Amino acid sequence: MAERLEQGDALLIVDLQNDFCPGGSLAVPEGDQVVPVLNRWIEAARETRLPIYASRDWHPENHVSFADRGGPWPPHCVQDTQGAAFHPDLKLPEEAVVISKGTDPDRDQYSALDDTGLGARMRQDGVRRVWAGGLAQDVCVRASVLDAAEEGFEVHLILPATRAVDVNPGDGDRALEEMREAGAVIEQDAEPVQ
Ligand SMILES: [Zn+2]
Repeated sequence: MAERLEQGDALLIVDLQNDFCPGGSLAVPEGDQVVPVLNRWIEAARETRLPIYASRDWHPENHVSFADRGGPWPPHCVQDTQGAAFHPDLKLPEEAVVISKGTDPDRDQYSALDDTGLGARMRQDGVRRVWAGGLAQDVCVRASVLDAAEEGFEVHLILPATRAVDVNPGDGDRALEEMREAGAVIEQDAEPVQ
């Protein structure tokens, strides 16, 4: 369905980084396929001068989420490495607000709104409705959408703009159900009006 973006809208792009795309150290299947979709939303958001927020995992080398410290994940998105860079085809404008998370070696942050100041920043920017996409649907996108809904934003998850890592089969679908139950709208085929 065609969606016209308006004042009060914002785009939230979660962790669209090389390590989460095919070839990366924690690749989400088809993770790179969301890039052209999100580029269309970026274009539409820019035309209407809407805020764009992009979160990134930005871990120190000894991060608690890494397997060698007993965490669930292989090392990924280590600060200042190629793996931590945004996907090279993502047309993130200079004015996009970048939110780094997971920077404390002893603490992980799946959500872009977990103690990052993003919720306050969005309120300050007059945001009411958040269009979200990125990686991974069942991990950091899930956590960010749940937090944004909890903070009172109207959240729309752009389904074609996200993919699940599905460590356990069905994780992606279960995450969608949780987000729906939290009040988020799951947009099956939304496309922005240019
Ligand atoms: Zn991480």
